[in-house]
Amino acid sequence: MSADSAAALFEATFGRAPDGVWSAPGRVNLIGEHTDYNAGLCLPIALPHRTYAAASPRDDRLLRLVSAQGDHVVELSLDDVAPGRPGGWAAYVAGVPWALERAGHRVRGLEVAIDGRVPLGAGLSSSAALECAVGAAASDLFGLGLLDAPSTRRALAAACIDAENTIARAPTGGMDQSAALLGTSLHALLLDCRDQHTEQVPFDLAAHDLALLVIDTRAEHALVDGQYAERRRSCEQAAQELGVPTLREVPPARLEERLATLSSDLLRRRARHIVTEIRRVEQAVEALRHDDFGRLGTLFLESHASMRDDFEISVAELDTAVEASVAAGALGARMTGGGFGGSAIALVPAARADRAQRRVAQAFSDRGFRAPDSFVVAASGAAQRER
Ligand code: ADP
Ligand code: MG
Repeated sequence: MSADSAAALFEATFGRAPDGVWSAPGRVNLIGEHTDYNAGLCLPIALPHRTYAAASPRDDRLLRLVSAQGDHVVELSLDDVAPGRPGGWAAYVAGVPWALERAGHRVRGLEVAIDGRVPLGAGLSSSAALECAVGAAASDLFGLGLLDAPSTRRALAAACIDAENTIARAPTGGMDQSAALLGTSLHALLLDCRDQHTEQVPFDLAAHDLALLVIDTRAEHALVDGQYAERRRSCEQAAQELGVPTLREVPPARLEERLATLSSDLLRRRARHIVTEIRRVEQAVEALRHDDFGRLGTLFLESHASMRDDFEISVAELDTAVEASVAAGALGARMTGGGFGGSAIALVPAARADRAQRRVAQAFSDRGFRAPDSFVVAASGAAQRER
């Protein structure tokens, strides 16, 4: 178990047993992509893959940090944490007590040993799993009570978002930290990014002889940062031209008529994706509430086509994962996450999951792509104390 290996790394590094071990999950988004910064809806699940943080408090303000996935021990004072400092992976850890302090909580230094079992950089949110495991540890060790209720968990998520945005300097919308702190087993989390309202939506695929396959394409693409910024800018410009604060406020009825007033075809396509994607999240929730998995699969496929053709964030590896899954009997499949690589998901009859995995691997090999990594996941639980 990784809780044990995080504790063992702690002992080997700091020469004593940790006070406790905490964990937080990665996440995969079922539907609702690039909707977070448009005040829209998304629908992530917490993954069974978790990041473990073994930790003890210190009496002074020193942070001593080590990770099984990092190269060396990082030491710095809480007073020296700042945007870009420390750099690298330690920013995601040190940023959390820094952000808690900025939010008015009393914290001190920490010794932390990390062992992460969420694939890094696969679009499955290893970064939020890391922040939220550390946040859970800090909350318990400093008696902050932030794991007690959904409302306090939201406050902890806000601190973890601040850590990632300000100290690690990665712009993220907040879906990842919400999933890691509020996701529950066998449920998807409907997150309204306009007012942070959340709702648990039943998502027990095994009870319906279905499975969710995650396909990590392991594709690497350059120039992604500029692409993300362009999408955000286009969405803002489209909203401005339509005279609304965000694209969330564009009603889906008579959409084409409204989009016709935009100044370019590019803006039309970007806005069309966002407005239809938010609508698809609502429809996916309806489908789940009625156990209509055929409909959910169709919505996955419509979502993928919208991201491929209108939002233009897919790549050949993601399209191949979707097409091969469908050819192997998936009810639907789509790329998930920001795009330009990362992972796809496929909704498959449980009995066909193996076949779908083989078929995807074969399709990648036929096209000369790097071998993908795929696994079946169930919706799992949020950040918690392990021991
Ligand atoms: P994602 O969140 O999709 O996995 P990100 O680029 O947002 O991708 O975050 C990945 C980064 O998070 C890694 O490059 C590393 O800096 C940090 N990270 C995540 N998990 C760990 C870990 N277990 N140990 C050290 N660093 C980690
Ligand atoms: Mg991340």
